[in-house]
Amino acid sequence: MGTVSGYLAHLPDVRMRARASLLGLAVGDALGATVEFMTAGEIHAKYGVHRKMIGGGWLRLRPGQVTDDTQMSLCIARSLVAVGYSPEDIARRFVTWYQSKPPDVGNTCRRGIARFINQGTVHGLPNDGDAGNGAVMRMAPVAVAALADERLLEDMTIGQAHITHHHPLSDAASLLVGRLIQLALIGHAMDRLQRQANDTVTKFRSFRFAPYHGLATAYVADTMQTVLHFLFSTSSFEECVVATVNQGGDADTTGAIVGAIAGAYYGLDSIPRDWLRKLDPDVRDELTSLADQLVDRSPLANGQPVTVFPPAKHPGGALG
Ligand code: MN
Ligand code: MN
Repeated sequence: MGTVSGYLAHLPDVRMRARASLLGLAVGDALGATVEFMTAGEIHAKYGVHRKMIGGGWLRLRPGQVTDDTQMSLCIARSLVAVGYSPEDIARRFVTWYQSKPPDVGNTCRRGIARFINQGTVHGLPNDGDAGNGAVMRMAPVAVAALADERLLEDMTIGQAHITHHHPLSDAASLLVGRLIQLALIGHAMDRLQRQANDTVTKFRSFRFAPYHGLATAYVADTMQTVLHFLFSTSSFEECVVATVNQGGDADTTGAIVGAIAGAYYGLDSIPRDWLRKLDPDVRDELTSLADQLVDRSPLANGQPVTVFPPAKHPGGALG
């Protein structure tokens, strides 16, 4: 069983993993954006295996340029560092970002931001059309900020998600991704992450990823099947992210989500140097700084004992 002091002693390691999670998100986004909306067959015909930061894609990006997945995560991270947890502040930052005319804004995100502008509400009503992956893709800063506190993770996850997406599958996926990132950040082994995923899959059968059917659309069930399949069938950060984005479809978003989990799991040294070098330097530096500040403000860094996630038999895990 991990003790408080045991986890605090590992704080430098947690900090490096938090950096790797946010940077993993960004490189997954930038790598995947090149092949977003292509099929796996089209990617193979054009690139063989796509594994270089070359930009382009339907958004005609510069090499290493990130998209909405990273930019909306930045909005949340900046907000959490500046004011603590406030859905209103996050929503206002989404508006500022939206008004800056970014290269890409998802339709459901656009609708939620428009609702906040017009009505001032930070959450919409439950909507069958909200089962996209747009809330899941910005979970990394939430997972870091709520480290050690499962209840806080749930509150912040639902709060940030419902600004734009109010659907049970989006909620379940966002929560699972948050938990997987947290488990990886505090040093758990992959079988512990797999148990967490299996626990969600038994409740939400549409996330079932074995056998994998190869759909990687923005529908959150397809997104989660793709992320979980490649997370659990690969054994390095690079292999995981490359395999995921080469599946095509919503490749920047599947890349961003799996990059955030795999970054936390495999650590900073596992992210290819060349990818980090190509990443927009302003984004790289800000994510690094925000990761440190999010860890330092988390309940974990302030001495709170780690609470136990439902399927845990051995909460200490790799650190126990
Ligand atoms: Mn995107
Ligand atoms: Mn996308």
